[in-house]
This record gives sequence, structure tokens and C-alpha cells, in this order.
Amino acid sequence: MRAFFLWMSHRASLRRLITRLGFARRAARRFVAGETIDDAIGVIRALNAGGILATVDHLGENVETEADARRATEDYRAILDRIGKEGVKSHASIKLTQLGLDIGVDFCRENVACILRTAKDIGAFIRIDMESSEYTARTLDVYRSLRREYENVGIVIQSYLYRSKDDVAALCQEGANVRLCKGAYKEPPDKTFPHKADVDASYVALARMLLSDGARAQGAYTAIATHDPKMIEAAKAYVAEHRVPRHRFEFQMLYGIRRDLQQQLAKEGYTMRVYVPYGTEWYPYFMRRLAERPANVWFLLRNLFRA
Ligand SMILES: Cc1cc2nc3c(=O)[nH]c(=O)nc-3n(C[C@H](O)[C@H](O)[C@H](O)COP(=O)(O)OP(=O)(O)OC[C@H]3O[C@@H](n4cnc5c(N)ncnc54)[C@H](O)[C@@H]3O)c2cc1C
Repeated sequence: MRAFFLWMSHRASLRRLITRLGFARRAARRFVAGETIDDAIGVIRALNAGGILATVDHLGENVETEADARRATEDYRAILDRIGKEGVKSHASIKLTQLGLDIGVDFCRENVACILRTAKDIGAFIRIDMESSEYTARTLDVYRSLRREYENVGIVIQSYLYRSKDDVAALCQEGANVRLCKGAYKEPPDKTFPHKADVDASYVALARMLLSDGARAQGAYTAIATHDPKMIEAAKAYVAEHRVPRHRFEFQMLYGIRRDLQQQLAKEGYTMRVYVPYGTEWYPYFMRRLAERPANVWFLLRNLFRA
């Protein structure tokens, strides 16, 4: 099931078909704030009212033309501008392939720098999402070259990759701001742990490295991004035992998933941030959410039968 939906996420013909279907659009709304900036701001405002912060994602990936990458850059600047004007509490998450990574590293880097400058003006932070492993090295390179100039930029590490242990060791030394997730893409078997138990064990080990005294002494900040209660409990136990101050880490979850747990963590006084995607390019994001959980497919089918 997982492999099937991840395969679907790359099929342009299926994208054209499915994004036109009313029931699929309605089902996607469970995970996507809406198609416009106003929709995103409305969702962020509601989250903020419940003591939850946001990181907004203007959906899109793998653009093929410079014009599309520039348009995506301007779209990000527009949402950051609105965040500043409305005074809502939100950072932004970006994907480098939406900003031209397939076209050229320098071109992409310039677009991200433009977004970072706009974000800096309103005191916002930009997280570079991690895409499939063919982009990992280039994404880290772009992050590191920007980090030399900008403070308000962070990166994502996926615990399913074998290489992540070395990447995390280096990022700890650099005092990076890292979001740790399990990983959401279809990957070749030689790059990822084959079993979920290994991915989970890797997640716990990497979280401990990032939250350690040594990493914090270098300035590291960690975002524990998961809906998995076992990962959350492991992180809570580590921070309690090692007296990690609450301002040195946060929990993150995706919009529409485990709202109960989001609210509970916020109530317990942890910093809780929700990833809020919006825009018309919701198809691959939605397919990845279906791939993660078979129950979501039933949710989609229920929408079909209702239609
Ligand atoms: C804030 C945030 C940012 C992310 N950024 C990236 C990124 O940059 N790159 C990347 O590769 N991945 C990213 N991801 C996705 C991540 O890699 C996982 O695919 C996703 O979070 C599911 O893994 P999990 O840790 O929740 O654990 P899992 O073991 O997959 O799930 C644990 C439990 O969480 C719930 N759950 C998980 N997924 C779903 C779902 N789709 N629908 C309903 N319930 C669900 C279920 O109750 C499940 O039993 C991000 C995730 C979060 C939360």
C-alpha cells in the first residue's frame, strides 16, 4: 500500500485526473488548510488561539522552469508578508525542488536567500524540508552555504536513512536547528533501514544526539516531528532525565493528524508547532499522507461513497 501511493505521487497523469475529482479534493482538505493565503492564515490563527504555533508550507515541488521557481519564491514572500502584517505566530517550511533545485543549485540558493531576507524582516524562521534521498546531499549543501550568512534557517533529517547518523553528528557540531522526522519518500533499499522497528530505533538515537548536552553547548535546537506516541514519550523521558530546558526543543506534527495529541502537548507546556500546507499543488503531499496510514485510504473511499 505504501509503495503504491508513493508511486502514484509521481504520476502526472494521475495527478491531473485526481485533482479534478470533487471527493478527492474534499478528502485532501483534512490535511491541507485550503488553496489560498487567507485559508492558511485562518488555520494558523485558530491554532495560535489554542496555544499552538505553525510553520506554513506553500505546496509545490519539482518545478521545471525558472519562471515557476521565481513565482514560488514570490508566493513565499507574500505569505511571509501576510504573517508579519496579521501578527500570527508562524514560521515557513520550504522545499528546494519547488525553488529550482532541479534547474541549478546557485539559482535555487538565490531564491532561498530572497525568502530568508523577507523572513528576517518579520522575525520568522525558514525550515528547509528534506525530500527524497537523491536530493539529500545537495539540500545539506544549500543549507550550509546559507547558514553561513543567515541565522534564521534550519534543516530536516530523516531517521530512515543510513547516512543520517553521520549527518546528525556533523549538524550537532555546527549547532544546527534540526527537525527530526522518520522520512516520507520511496527510497532505494540500499539507503534506508528496511524495517519500521529500525527506523524507530534510529529516530530515538538521533533525537538523543540532537538533544544532548554536547549538541546544545554548540547551540543546537531540535524539533521532534512525529505523531508516534512512542517517539514522543522517548523524547520526553530524555529531556526530563537530562534536564533539557523547554526552550531548546519543540514538538511538531502535521495539520489534520493527531489533533488530540497536539493539544495535549501544548497543554502540558511544551512548544507545539503544526505544519500547515496550503495551495493548489496538494496532490503529492496528499498521496504521501495516504501512504503513511491505510486508514486514510478508507477515509478517501468514504468521501467517494458520499459523493
Ligand atoms: C512537522 C512535520 C514535518 C515533516 N517534514 C518532513 C520532511 O521534511 N521530509 C520527510 O521526508 N518527511 C517529513 N515529515 C513526514 C514524516 O517523515 C513521516 O512520514 C510522518 O510524520 C509519519 O511518521 P510518524 O513519525 O508520525 O510515525 P508513524 O510510525 O508513521 O506513525 C505513528 C502514528 O502516527 C499517526 N499517523 C502517522 N501518519 C499519519 C497519517 N498520514 N494520517 C493519520 N495518522 C497518521 C498514526 O496514529 C500512526 O500510528 C514530516 C512530519 C512532520 C510531523
